[in-house]
Amino acid sequence: MSVVAYIGLGSNLGDSRQILIEAVQNLATLGKVTTSKLYESPPMGPQDQPNYLNAVARLETHLEPLVLLDELQRFENESGRVRLRRWGERTLDLDLLIYGQENIQNERLTVPHVGILERDFVVIPLLDLDAEMQLKGHVLKNLSILEHPTVTVLDDGDWAGL
Ligand code: ATP
Ligand code: MG
Ligand code: MG
Repeated sequence: MSVVAYIGLGSNLGDSRQILIEAVQNLATLGKVTTSKLYESPPMGPQDQPNYLNAVARLETHLEPLVLLDELQRFENESGRVRLRRWGERTLDLDLLIYGQENIQNERLTVPHVGILERDFVVIPLLDLDAEMQLKGHVLKNLSILEHPTVTVLDDGDWAGL
């Protein structure tokens, strides 16, 4: 049986738009993929770094969570990712946001991802994919962080060419 997983995508180094397109193509090798709109958002953490491009992908997959994480980390590495500092600039960040209804807590994985409810650049694209989504007892569309969004839409079409 397949599971619906949501993957957060971010990039602020290199040709970010192309890197996210390639990331979506890589995800499509793991199952059926659909994508949110493409967004630009200010950096979290250190402010002396470029804005990010962000999106969320919905993936129907048969892979177990840790196997999926292995694949996401392989895609990050293949994009030439180097990480210089916490929440610093990177060519590609692929976070496993949600995996079915599962709550996972181990050395490598916390699912749902810890940052979701505080990050408009995650919540807004999640709502593109499921306008009624709820998480940890919150109706995402009602979150107060959405009252003053920091993100802008860069592309509301088929930016990933799916
Ligand atoms: P944040 O997780 O706050 O967005 P980040 O994405 O910059 O920060 P990374 O450097 O990409 O953090 O990941 C650090 C570690 O987080 C990874 O080695 C991974 O094992 C762990 N991790 C825990 N939960 C998750 C998750 N849900 N998705 C991806 N990585 C996770
Ligand atoms: Mg991240
Ligand atoms: Mg990450």
